[in-house]
Amino acid sequence: MLNSTQKLIPTLIGLSVAIVALAAFLFSYLDHPFKLLSIAIVLLSVFIFYIALRLKKFNTYSNLSTESSSSSDEFATAFEYASIGMGLVSLEGRFIKVNKSLCDLLGYSSEEFTKLTFQEITHPDDLERDLGYVSKLVNDAIETYQIEKRYFTKKGDIIWINLSGSKVKNPDGSFKHFIAQIENITPRKDAFQKIEEQSQRIQNIIDGTNAGTWEWNVQTGETIFNQKWAELIGYTLEELSPISINTWMNFTHPDDLFISEQKLTECFEKQSEYYTCECRMQHKDGHWIWVLDRGKVMTWTEDGKPLMMFGTHTDITNLKEAQHELSKSKAFLDTVLNSVDVGIVVCDHTGRLTLFNQAATDMHGIPFNPLESKNWTSYYDLLKTDGITPLQLDEIPLFMALKDGQISNSELIIQHASGNKIFVNCTGNQILDQNNNLLGAVIAMTDITNLKLATKNAEDIAVKFKGIFDSTFQFIGFLSPEGTLLEANQTAVNFAGLHADDLIGKKFWDCYWWTISKETQETLKANIESAAKGEFIQYEVEVLGGMGPTTILFNLKPLFDASGEVIAIIPEGRPIQEIVDSRKALLQKNEELERFASVASHDLKEPLRMISSFLSLLEQNYKGKFDDKADTYIHFSVDAAKRMTNLINDLLNYAKIGSEDAPIELIKTNELINEILPLFNTDLEIQNRKIEIEKLPDIVGKTTPIKTLFQNLIGNAVKYQKPGSNTLIKVSGKENISNWEFCVEDNGIGIAPQHYEEIFQMFHRLHTKEEFAGTGMGLATCNKIVKQHGGEIWVKSEEGVGSKFFFTIKKQYLN
Ligand code: ADP
Repeated sequence: MLNSTQKLIPTLIGLSVAIVALAAFLFSYLDHPFKLLSIAIVLLSVFIFYIALRLKKFNTYSNLSTESSSSSDEFATAFEYASIGMGLVSLEGRFIKVNKSLCDLLGYSSEEFTKLTFQEITHPDDLERDLGYVSKLVNDAIETYQIEKRYFTKKGDIIWINLSGSKVKNPDGSFKHFIAQIENITPRKDAFQKIEEQSQRIQNIIDGTNAGTWEWNVQTGETIFNQKWAELIGYTLEELSPISINTWMNFTHPDDLFISEQKLTECFEKQSEYYTCECRMQHKDGHWIWVLDRGKVMTWTEDGKPLMMFGTHTDITNLKEAQHELSKSKAFLDTVLNSVDVGIVVCDHTGRLTLFNQAATDMHGIPFNPLESKNWTSYYDLLKTDGITPLQLDEIPLFMALKDGQISNSELIIQHASGNKIFVNCTGNQILDQNNNLLGAVIAMTDITNLKLATKNAEDIAVKFKGIFDSTFQFIGFLSPEGTLLEANQTAVNFAGLHADDLIGKKFWDCYWWTISKETQETLKANIESAAKGEFIQYEVEVLGGMGPTTILFNLKPLFDASGEVIAIIPEGRPIQEIVDSRKALLQKNEELERFASVASHDLKEPLRMISSFLSLLEQNYKGKFDDKADTYIHFSVDAAKRMTNLINDLLNYAKIGSEDAPIELIKTNELINEILPLFNTDLEIQNRKIEIEKLPDIVGKTTPIKTLFQNLIGNAVKYQKPGSNTLIKVSGKENISNWEFCVEDNGIGIAPQHYEEIFQMFHRLHTKEEFAGTGMGLATCNKIVKQHGGEIWVKSEEGVGSKFFFTIKKQYLN
């Protein structure tokens, strides 16, 4: 029946078209009454066409139903074996029919499914969304829908599915059931989630590294920075927008842009995979920060040009500053290492040499070689202190330090490339890290060649010195500043008739020699204290010798260090008993002589005065009464008697010096000289010469002898003048630490150097009595006076120019 209806439809449509065509013909060619007929025919044809259409619609439904029934087997097969899960679901949601794939997917059998609703196996979080679609589908708001949602499997696992839902209606248009197509998308979802997690992790890492990121389309210049990128230079992204590659260029140091460009080119030309550049960027505050810019071209255009490039910015300012500080301190360390004259050698924990400073290299005279320990001995010529035997590896201080942890004051000899032997003292240590892990060892070598030579010399000298020290005629010792006897020479020990052990280490004043009396010991003690303060002491003292009391001339000489501190005292003594005895005898003789001279000159004075006065009377009364010869003889006799008188006076004066009982007193020198100057007035006026007296220091001494002293010197200065010259005599003086020093200067005839000493002896004259009158006693008297005042007298002179007579008066004369 359906087939006949199907065939009828085109017939009916064709009929209605034919009728319309007929009606159109009638309408145009026939008269009016037929026109109405034609309209009726058209209406008929429209009716037939309607019938045809209704038939067609009916036929469609019929067809469907027919096709359905004819292909139901195919559908059932396709449904059952479809690779995706399929299910027919009732309006309430119950599974009416499910295919095998769906059973496999969720783990239920098809029977079990028929007892389930989709609501029961849908994840609660997805259910509402799903039901929303279902309701729209049922209400014809949508024909079909698709969602991703979660199902629970029978085991309770959650799986992700992609659900396509549609509905099937009954032929009458009423709802029949849903068709659900279910695709397992769990693997895709998992993968997607993994990607999500991964990108989140990457994002976290980027955030964690505090790095700014950039994405750059090299072809268009379009650039994306993250917020951190902007923050690195103190901005927000908003402040920097609009952002392009120029944003980066504007903030980057021009010098670094150039380098960056070079590195980018390398990257674009695929010479390097990564772009890495350290650049300075200007911060919003104005200062420059250092940025490590790293990136990589990730995609390329088809014609091989770089397209997308991605990268990061990291603030490495601190690192750069630390690097700068590090390089500064390394430079400092290198300079220090290479400027010290101590050789430094370092090895790592394996024994490989890692450092030789300049001094160490110089000590060997060969270039540094980073050798392993087993090769040290063959390369570096290291010898034992005998200078011959080569050092074994385990005797090398660096190796010992590495193995044992520490080595100190180990001595060895380096055979320098030049052949010279260098004596070194080594001190070394292990190098450990914070956790006490061995990093290596270091050794410091001090060149002690000179010290060794000096020590050897000192030893040689000491041996020689000891020989001299012990064999000298004097007693010599060595005292600490506190007076302990540290050393005494053999002479001194022998003199005491003891052994050195009986004396060394004792206080000097408690040693045998000085025990002669308490007073001698006390004096010595006091003198040692003075010497310890830097004073040179000398005195004669009677001490005990092996043979009994002996007088010695004894010195205490302080020994100073570079800073002027007294570090020791050297006592020195020499027996002078014989000298003392002969001096005593001499003094006695002198006294006797002086007494004799005094008595003789005193006793001679009277007859001489008589001879002189009678000769003068003879000359006065009888001159011209005899012949000329008699006059001459009388004159010579008078003259000789005068000179004899002078000589006896001078001798008497000389003899008296020291024997007078004059007190030691303060002498106002200028006043004293003023008293004696009138004595020379006549001579000075006659000779038209001047005498200039400077301000002189006052002194302490015996007035009369000091007066004689000045009188003689000024008298000589007046006497020994060049005739006819305008000369000047000057008396000057000054105060020294231990004495007063005076000078009587003239511009007279002067004295030849060879006579400087002898003129101070008695009766020594350089001129005849005809040239200059005198007795030759003046300077001898001066010498005696000065000596009695603990001083010295000397002359500096030039013949024809003048003389300077100097003398000193000792201050200690006070004591
Ligand atoms: P005299 O009685 O001869 O002056 P002195 O002992 O005073 O004896 O001097 C010794 C000698 O030293 C003198 O004879 C003289 O030759 C020399 N003499 C002393 N003073 C001077 C002087 N101021 N200038 C040159 N010669 C001098």
